[in-house]
Amino acid sequence: MMSHCLDIQDDPQNLEQVLSDCKETLKYCVKTAHPRFFNQLSTGLDIIALAGEWLTATANTNMFTYEIAPVFTLMEDIVLTKLREHIGWPNGHGDGIFAPGGAISNLYAVAVARHTKIPDSKVKGMTGQPRLVMFTSEMSHFSIKRAGALLGIGLDNVINIKADDRGRMSVEDLESRIEQALAEGGVPFFVAATAGTTVLGAFDPINDIADVCEKYGLWFHVDGAWGGSALVSPTHKHLLSGVHRVNSMTWNPHKLLGAVLQCSAILIREPGLLEATNSLKADYLFQPDKHYDVSYDTGDKAIQCGRHNDVFKLWLMWRAKGDRGMQIHIDHLMSLSRYLQKKVRQTDGFEFVLENPEFINVCFWYVPKNIRHLPPGKERESELHKVAPRIKARMMEKGSTMVGYQPMGKLPNFFRMINSNPASTYPDIDWLISEIERIGEEI
Ligand SMILES: *Cc1c(COP(=O)(O)O)cnc(C)c1O
Repeated sequence: MMSHCLDIQDDPQNLEQVLSDCKETLKYCVKTAHPRFFNQLSTGLDIIALAGEWLTATANTNMFTYEIAPVFTLMEDIVLTKLREHIGWPNGHGDGIFAPGGAISNLYAVAVARHTKIPDSKVKGMTGQPRLVMFTSEMSHFSIKRAGALLGIGLDNVINIKADDRGRMSVEDLESRIEQALAEGGVPFFVAATAGTTVLGAFDPINDIADVCEKYGLWFHVDGAWGGSALVSPTHKHLLSGVHRVNSMTWNPHKLLGAVLQCSAILIREPGLLEATNSLKADYLFQPDKHYDVSYDTGDKAIQCGRHNDVFKLWLMWRAKGDRGMQIHIDHLMSLSRYLQKKVRQTDGFEFVLENPEFINVCFWYVPKNIRHLPPGKERESELHKVAPRIKARMMEKGSTMVGYQPMGKLPNFFRMINSNPASTYPDIDWLISEIERIGEEI
């Protein structure tokens, strides 16, 4: 193999070299906390969360037993209860656990729903079981499908439900696909709605979907990895109205709430199901005759063994800012996004993919002057398709900003702007618009 400056040597390096390694590492990292980094749903660097992560590393303990994480276990219970209160479950009653990201939280939801539908699958496996069928919108996050693949449901039995022109799940299509699955001898068991889709920021109609789930007796999960945090704002929580009716919810505080990576929770309305699904009672960890109440041990609910402490940083942030501070944070990001929408509406050459988006995501094209005269059609679209990647390439070469782009179905590449960095200001938005215009006219 070629020798490389990152290679690890036989001999130890001195302190000076190690410090210089740290500096060089940071130098070549992408500055995700920069006020003009708009590339991801998780951006920014909350100083309190950072301090929390430092303390977490200092304490360096494992979350699986109360025995070695007494304080953090209590904090986890308090924070999970707070999240459940925001969902609207009475007194924050229910269950949950912190998981390594939203994809894993979604996996938990499907696993618990599957166990609830056919409890003996835990022991007997899926062979000879009825053919389970689950439903999710075509706009949902890919991790829902992957959970179906991993849990033996099979991708053929993960049915894509159509979305309307605002990117929301069509309830009529959902109901007709459930009927179709039943007619074909399948056993529907699970529906995933999304609160804040990854690309368009759409909110599926939770109340209407809950009606369908109740009618057919299906587990109702809402993937609120991105949009769940709107619940902490009395101004914006209506986006998730009806959410108290779900059986489970994924919520990623490492996205909109600004906790540093990773911080994601799976919340489950009915206590006991997580444990029933996952517990194997390893006797070297979960001795029943410990000298404390062993129901404090959370480890046997998890699909992991060792578990990182993801809660302390969030607890510390919430404690420091209070409910009011968390609300101000969300409301500020929403107003930055509204401001960007206004700029897109008012600036020549900018076109929305979706007019008046209801959430943080603002998806748009920049149409350079030399193609503005082209009539709608193939030629215009194929020219437009090249614009966003070229603009992004220039931005990255200069190192000035980062914004994501992507195609969607037949739509040419567009920018997806995310304002989830509290360090961003209105002038940063003004700057971004003129930078896109400037580069867009150069290329
Ligand atoms: C980001 C996202 C996920 C995945 O979360 P990770 O923490 O990246 O695993 C799942 N669902 C939605 C809607 C998301 O936006």
